[in-house]
Amino acid sequence: MSIPTPPFTDEHEELRASARGFIERELAPHAQRWEEEQWFPDEVFPKMAAQGLLGLKYPEEYGGQGGDYLHEAVLAEELARAGSGGTAAGIGAHINIATPPIWKFGTEEQKQRYLAPAIRGERIGALGITEPGAGSDVAAISTRAERVDGGWVLNGEKTYITNGVRAHFIVTAVKTTREGGHHGISFMIVDRREGVSSSALHKLGWQASDTATISFQDVFVGEENLLGPLNEGFKLIMANFQWERLVMALGSVGAMALAWERTAEFARQRSAFGRPLSGHQAIRHELADLATSVYTCRCVTYDALRRFIAGEEPLKEVTMAKLLTQRACFELMDACLQIHGGAGYMREYWVERAARDARLGPIGGGSDEIMREILGRVLGL
Ligand SMILES: Cc1cc2nc3c(=O)[nH]c(=O)nc-3n(C[C@H](O)[C@H](O)[C@H](O)COP(=O)(O)OP(=O)(O)OC[C@H]3O[C@@H](n4cnc5c(N)ncnc54)[C@H](O)[C@@H]3O)c2cc1C
Repeated sequence: MSIPTPPFTDEHEELRASARGFIERELAPHAQRWEEEQWFPDEVFPKMAAQGLLGLKYPEEYGGQGGDYLHEAVLAEELARAGSGGTAAGIGAHINIATPPIWKFGTEEQKQRYLAPAIRGERIGALGITEPGAGSDVAAISTRAERVDGGWVLNGEKTYITNGVRAHFIVTAVKTTREGGHHGISFMIVDRREGVSSSALHKLGWQASDTATISFQDVFVGEENLLGPLNEGFKLIMANFQWERLVMALGSVGAMALAWERTAEFARQRSAFGRPLSGHQAIRHELADLATSVYTCRCVTYDALRRFIAGEEPLKEVTMAKLLTQRACFELMDACLQIHGGAGYMREYWVERAARDARLGPIGGGSDEIMREILGRVLGL
């Protein structure tokens, strides 16, 4: 049986090689330091932009590379080589969740004002949906936008927002009717300005990323910053979920493959009881199982990607890929940590960080439980 594979061409493989080179040269050597500092520098964005990596799927008229989702998929997988889930998350939030709604639903003027500078790495974006009282149940958000002359005034709080401290603009979901809900939410692009304040949150993993609670206190947002149709914001939220989840699956596949390679090498080099670890059947079998998991996750993710690229609406396949890969990635990292023994528990080993970083997958971008709920519906249960 042939394996469903996205139609990667030579051009995609060239992109893969150059993105990998950049990531291994410019990002990976700093992973440990950025982890300790709980921050990666803003300069990473213009550096990525100079390589064309912030606008792979965006049209050339906004400074993008004129590519498509398949080019972006290559980068999503390669970003795992940064060795820092937090750095990949900060870059990924900018590319894959904050800017796509502007690209798809923004006016020409909004694209020039936000998308083009975002592609140049001059302005950093965040997506603000989650609130202290509403996560999985996105329709329950309560941040309120009151109509005033020339625009709206926002009050409320967003939380767990990636790039929430550094972002120059926040693509924000707000209630624009008293009831809110599916036909009462709108999107607004909120500039960092008076009334917008952020406080950094401390996390188990993704330490190099900046995750924040953002408060809006009487923040004026002009008419021209309404993104997409009024009261139809729920559709904007839904519109990017498939891509966001595919990106998470791709990132996990990349991280799993890399972790497997490094752990297999460690098992060949490290000896116990007179032979390499890989010479012990229990370890060899564990590595065989882990290789099978990497392969399975890649096949399922690539199949969902191929369908997505072909213009299908592969809700079932993307949901399954997200559900399968996020838990499998965490389990694989834990198994790799175990094979490293005490070294695996030490800060200076990559695997300790990778295991912590992987724990986010089953929670973020729609939790495992929400993926199962979607599948329940799709499967007619
Ligand atoms: C590091 C990090 C970065 C993030 N970045 C962003 C960001 O950039 N922008 C943004 O908007 N959000 C972001 N999030 C938020 C993330 O999307 C939410 O945390 C996630 O959607 C879960 O929402 P919640 O935390 O409110 O949990 P809740 O929705 O309160 O869920 C709590 C638990 O209950 C389960 N549960 C909920 N509903 C059901 C149900 N119907 N059936 C069974 N179980 C259920 C959940 O699966 C979970 O296990 C980020 C979160 C983290 C941790």
